Amino acid sequence: MPELPEVETIRRQLCTAGLKGRTIEKVTISWPRTVEPLSPAAFRKRVVGKTIERLSRHGKWLIFELDDIDNLLVHLRMTGGFSLSDGPLKKGPYDRAIFQLSGGMNLHFRDPRKFGRFRLATFPLGLGPDALEITARPFFQTLGKSNRMLKPLLLDQSFIAGVGNIYADEALFEARLHPERRAGSLNDDEKLALYMAVTHVIRSAVENGGTSLGNGQGNYVDLNGNFGGHREKVKVYGRAGQPCVECGAPLEKITLAQRTTVFCSQCQE
Ligand SMILES: [Zn+2]
Repeated sequence: MPELPEVETIRRQLCTAGLKGRTIEKVTISWPRTVEPLSPAAFRKRVVGKTIERLSRHGKWLIFELDDIDNLLVHLRMTGGFSLSDGPLKKGPYDRAIFQLSGGMNLHFRDPRKFGRFRLATFPLGLGPDALEITARPFFQTLGKSNRMLKPLLLDQSFIAGVGNIYADEALFEARLHPERRAGSLNDDEKLALYMAVTHVIRSAVENGGTSLGNGQGNYVDLNGNFGGHREKVKVYGRAGQPCVECGAPLEKITLAQRTTVFCSQCQE
């Protein structure tokens, strides 16, 4: 499932590919729920003729800034992704939407499991600071006054936007903190360790172009159809039962907030 590093990788690639300044000339929606609550016709009416002025991102939301009050916000959810083509339009089997842009460029939204969503709004609501930009102070303050367990707290997008299941597990391992620890029980050294771990894990995954874990149709691929290079760097996520890279003990798996959580009971307190 794409988290901040995967969305950021796609954003950077879309910028490099020259999306900025292009006008949306035509839109084809082949899975209407992608644009709910709008109908495909209403969605088309509001975006056709608009120009993409900038591509930004907050947390896991990709933001196509349009020359309009509203922007096109995209959440990739489980399996959403983009690819580009030029020349005559050729629809891929998992394409749920295609934007035909000025200059003959086609932007395909591919989404095998169909959970990805588009919104027309100025900005995604209810999000905390972006995980690439959060400063220590709000991070420490939230930890200090929260009695929640660390794993669900890190997944809470209103606390920090962009962290999902992979990077939450990785950050907790790097900080040597147990996923069930209560946030309010952390001392200052532990809070700092967690802050450093979250920012480091997210930054290094961005540098490596994100993480792809499987080989199926729904696996994350970047704009060019390539897997993310961070896969080899993942230390705990998806490795339950395998030896901890630090101490060799088998990694354990529990369910927290309905999400699988992998950790080392020897290294993480
Ligand atoms: Zn260990």
